[in-house]
Amino acid sequence: MSFRSEAEESAFIFATKTVSALGYAFIVTAANYTGRLAPSPTGLLHLGHAATFWTAYQRVQQNRGTLLLRNEDLDPQRSKQGYVDAMIEDLAWLGIQWTQPIITQSQRIPLYREAFVRLLATGHAYACTCSRKELARMVAAPHEDTDDEPVYSGKCRPAPTTPAQTLQPNTNYRFRVPDGEAIIFTDQNLGPQAFTARKDFGDFLIWRKDGLPSYQLACVVDDADSLITEVVRGADLLKSTARQILLQRALGLPSIEYFHTQLLRDEQGVRLAKRHDALALRTLRQHGLLPADVIGMFTL
Ligand SMILES: [Zn+2]
Repeated sequence: MSFRSEAEESAFIFATKTVSALGYAFIVTAANYTGRLAPSPTGLLHLGHAATFWTAYQRVQQNRGTLLLRNEDLDPQRSKQGYVDAMIEDLAWLGIQWTQPIITQSQRIPLYREAFVRLLATGHAYACTCSRKELARMVAAPHEDTDDEPVYSGKCRPAPTTPAQTLQPNTNYRFRVPDGEAIIFTDQNLGPQAFTARKDFGDFLIWRKDGLPSYQLACVVDDADSLITEVVRGADLLKSTARQILLQRALGLPSIEYFHTQLLRDEQGVRLAKRHDALALRTLRQHGLLPADVIGMFTL
């Protein structure tokens, strides 16, 4: 039973259509979502990577956004061109499409150095001359799900009133975290998160004695430079997100959204990221698996 006259009814239908058309237009024009895949070419992509990258690709598609590919090749000892070629081939095989050009971190050192020098000049960074042995003695984070570094003792940390330091060659530099401050963010997948500076993580490395930025610094600089709106990555990096939020704040960069994926485990509960053997995408492919078979495995 309708309460509307015929004219009202047609006006109502017109309005509904207009609203849904506007709604659709809004979704399309709101498509400034930009995500990224950021593999390191230090080995072959395996099932664990594929699950995260597939999620990142789905998030981009759901938001009608843009996906960038970033080659995180800042480890000169372990990065190999052969692995870069392999990851491009494996991602394409999986059916993931990204926007060119590929961003290569080793070609962007001046950009990272500029950010580092700014952190140094504003008193956010200090030189750390601790030996590997000394660092190894510091208490490691107990959580098994993070490939995390020990909480730094603060041995080389200067008093807050000390003048800002300058860049010296062959020196490691750390970021001074705000003592006892809770870094709070809402993960788009895992919900509210809180990590306390100097308890859950300490003053972390931002510049290495070999003249290269740490993962944390390069990641923050690149995400800002690429106008990334949401980072999709594994839950082992939740604590790194807290560190990176501090870096964004110190550098005056906009904050972004984070979507951390649960880590895939095998039947024994071992993280797949810890197993590089039989789960490499190309091994699965050589065994006759199709992309759809691999994607189907993520939901097991
Ligand atoms: Zn030190």
